[in-house]
Amino acid sequence: MLELTSLKEFLAVPRQIVITTHPKPDGDAMGSSLGLYAYLILKGHQVSVITPTDYPTFLAWLPNNSHVIIYTEKTEQSQQLIASADLIFCLDFNSLVRINEMGTYVRDSAAKKVMIDHHLEPEGFEDYRLWTTGACATAQLVYEFIVNVMGDRTLLNQAIASCLYTGIMTDTGSFRFRSTTSNVHRIVADLIDCGADNTLIHQMVYDDFSETRLRFLGHCLLNKLEVLDEFNSAIIVITQQELDKYKISTGDTEGIVNYALSITGIRLAILIIERQDMVKLSIRSTGDFPANELCKKYFNGGGHKNAAGGFSNEKIEMVREKFDTILPEYKSQLIL
Ligand code: 5GP
Ligand code: MN
Repeated sequence: MLELTSLKEFLAVPRQIVITTHPKPDGDAMGSSLGLYAYLILKGHQVSVITPTDYPTFLAWLPNNSHVIIYTEKTEQSQQLIASADLIFCLDFNSLVRINEMGTYVRDSAAKKVMIDHHLEPEGFEDYRLWTTGACATAQLVYEFIVNVMGDRTLLNQAIASCLYTGIMTDTGSFRFRSTTSNVHRIVADLIDCGADNTLIHQMVYDDFSETRLRFLGHCLLNKLEVLDEFNSAIIVITQQELDKYKISTGDTEGIVNYALSITGIRLAILIIERQDMVKLSIRSTGDFPANELCKKYFNGGGHKNAAGGFSNEKIEMVREKFDTILPEYKSQLIL
């Protein structure tokens, strides 16, 4: 591992840089990537943001979004950029298997790799690391990279600030999760001072629902929400047929799991979604309940203590049934 501070020297001359993040990127993944992009462009580098897959349309307003290259749509170009890069930033993930086949090209590239992330258990593929699970968002770490490592507080502009604000806002559940320390609020205040329009950003991310998306949410809450008082848990199962019926696309299911967690007394909320190639799980918990351990043990996944995910190759009915044995196992941690 190289000293992070030596990156400043490496970046003193123009470099070919690739920034990448995890599949189905969320607000933090895109916010931190495009925030770093806007900064590195200002510094005179040649920069590409490559996402492994597409991402929600409610993030399409982010500054420089039009420059993002989606690997699955421009595979050859992406591979060439990765192979010829001097430096690859890996943001909001810490293990190369997480970015599917793109991971192989990143690993094989002669580029130096920088991992900036706040998830548990980093694999250790990188040359430079800015990593702590204490950060509320990768966007917070990108802010600290620009301000503290690079000493470039004065370069923060509206584009950078708007992107980083979006990352912190989405990953902290609008500044309410435990990770939202007073220091995070100071950073957010600084981002507002640098031009992030907080009211507008909230509107663009949270108040830009299509009618079908809102009706789909109603359907989930009215017809699909299963409340298991015995385990202080709630489960929502969504089939591919329902996704098709309501024309649900990437990102439209984001946030649904949080409604289940908002019921008084519920400690564990589980969203099970049937996708084309797998069944995806989104799990949220309150207090000390380790959602990430559950995901790791049963669903090839991981994440944070209170927000985790995973997947299964079993049929969706089987995945739901699995919880009939999983929940009793965790009962003592669910019923306090
Ligand atoms: P979400 O439920 O919003 O998709 O994911 C919540 C968190 O769970 C993510 O920030 C990520 O840390 C983690 N996560 C989601 N899916 C996976 C997965 O398939 N594998 C791993 N290791 N973590 C995941
Ligand atoms: Mn994140």
